Amino acid sequence: MTVTTALPSFDEAIATYEPVMGMEVHVELGTATKMFCGCSTAFGAEPNSQTCPTCLGLPGSLPVVNKIAVESAIRIGLALNCSIAEWCRFARKNYFYPDMPKNFQTSQYDEPIAFDGYMDVTVDGVEYRIGIERAHMEEDTGKSLHVGGATGRIHGASHSLLDYNRSGIPLIEIVTKPIEVPAEVAPAVARAYVTELRELIRALGVSEARMELGQMRCDANVSLRLPDAPFGTRTETKNVNSLRSVERAVTYEIRRQAAVISSGGTIVQETRHWHEDTGETTSGRVKEEAEDYRYFPEPDLVPIAPAREWVDELRATLPEPPAVRRARLQEAWGFTDLEMRDVVNAGALSLVFDTVAEGASAGGAKKWWLGEVARVANERGVSLEDAGISVADVTRVEALIAEGSLNDKLARQVVEGVLAGEGTPDEVVAARGLVLVNDDAALGAAVDDAIAAQPDVAEKIRGGNLGAVGALIGAIMKATKGQADAKRARALILERLQ
Ligand code: ADP
Ligand code: MG
Ligand code: ZN
Repeated sequence: MTVTTALPSFDEAIATYEPVMGMEVHVELGTATKMFCGCSTAFGAEPNSQTCPTCLGLPGSLPVVNKIAVESAIRIGLALNCSIAEWCRFARKNYFYPDMPKNFQTSQYDEPIAFDGYMDVTVDGVEYRIGIERAHMEEDTGKSLHVGGATGRIHGASHSLLDYNRSGIPLIEIVTKPIEVPAEVAPAVARAYVTELRELIRALGVSEARMELGQMRCDANVSLRLPDAPFGTRTETKNVNSLRSVERAVTYEIRRQAAVISSGGTIVQETRHWHEDTGETTSGRVKEEAEDYRYFPEPDLVPIAPAREWVDELRATLPEPPAVRRARLQEAWGFTDLEMRDVVNAGALSLVFDTVAEGASAGGAKKWWLGEVARVANERGVSLEDAGISVADVTRVEALIAEGSLNDKLARQVVEGVLAGEGTPDEVVAARGLVLVNDDAALGAAVDDAIAAQPDVAEKIRGGNLGAVGALIGAIMKATKGQADAKRARALILERLQ
């Protein structure tokens, strides 16, 4: 049934209904080889060049478990405060799809390697505990490419191509318990959860967890209910692939479901597709029940029984928790809570960290990554990492400012040039002729002109009103097209007028 009534606002929706959420996050591990064979996992290779009988599902091939993948799964489980199974098995999840040549996915079902944990997240200074139902191991599918249509979807395509390079890459699926938080913060909590999980995964070093590359993918389950009523029927919005989209998709689903329910409709349990461009979800397929998959234990793999000593060894390798690390860095960098939150929300924590490690000031690093670079990255719809400027470039710009070769205004032009593909900061400086005018002869002439042009201002300064100096510096900047060294200009003005 199609509901055509206009959607209520988010506030209207939550005035009546309470949302319940559940997040399923898939993380592609950064192991060198696949989950059950020795094929390379390197990204971007020629299609089907990284395959073998096992990951192509050829008859007679046998899988062997990747130990590093199991180790990563256990470390993720421990970092999420989970219990680690003493004994667990893989299971076959049976269904047909062309990108899955075995006709089943080797996954885990009722015996996950890690279960019953939690992670704390903070929104607007309030901490929420997100329960972790389980973290289990599975393998990725191949990739279908639908060719010949306008949309890249199968509808309208003339044919489809299949690339099995991704088939068998290790995945960890992390599933939360139902999340029940105050309705007004629900979308923000969902986003904070995925953000925090990404930090944790990166800190563990098990994956770069870059959502724009599909290394981390989020499915968002949402249902509505009246206060104190049993849980409603959920929908599962698939592949919500940016932090911002998590928040938007949850918000949209809350509004859409409220419209359906309040107009007398019912929510069907289904998967839905998220559309980044319109900010809407559309109906996918009616959700299979677990029994449709005919799960059964994988007979070709031995059970996993991680020795307790091994688990303890892995526990000792856990990194400092991201929240503790953030507090430490915030203190070292001298950032306010708000500044630190901006850095984290922009996904710039590791970039700022790396830039500071190369010698830049924390304030300078933050200013560029969250300013010019973020603006250009947004315009182009790419991540900060892919905006076209490196940590070394930003560090170099900061060094040029510190040594007095650039002022802020010139530095901005240098960053713009680097982002436009004009080369390194030094190359942009040379090509655009961006030099700070600070030699006293050239600057002195501009100072004299400015004083001559504004005698009333000069008189104020002579009379001790130093606040008026700015007006003269402004004129000097204009005359030198922003290339004057403001500090030196100020000194020269005071030399002449005091
Ligand atoms: P499936 O295999 O159908 O995707 P999972 O158990 O893997 O189911 O994940 C379902 C997710 O939805 C979990 O995070 C779970 O906590 C959450 N969930 C379960 N019931 C509801 C509900 N009624 N409303 C919202 N979320 C729910
Ligand atoms: Mg699931
Ligand atoms: Zn293989």
